[in-house]
Amino acid sequence: MPLINRACPECGSVDRVVRDAFASWDVDTQSWVLASVDDNLSCNACGTSAVTPEEIEATEEEEDAGAEGET
Ligand SMILES: [Zn+2]
Repeated sequence: MPLINRACPECGSVDRVVRDAFASWDVDTQSWVLASVDDNLSCNACGTSAVTPEEIEATEEEEDAGAEGET
């Protein structure tokens, strides 16, 4: 299954598109868990708000990905 990445339509940055969200405290895991995700998206790279990120296929990093042994 190809991994999908989100790219900013303004500056093209990937992994920098963020969404507003609410977290609530989970007693069982003793951590903040995502309760809801807002529709408001913005880009941390260029500061553009209300962006609709483009879905692009993520390219695998060459570092540790080699288990399949493609030749
Ligand atoms: Zn951007």
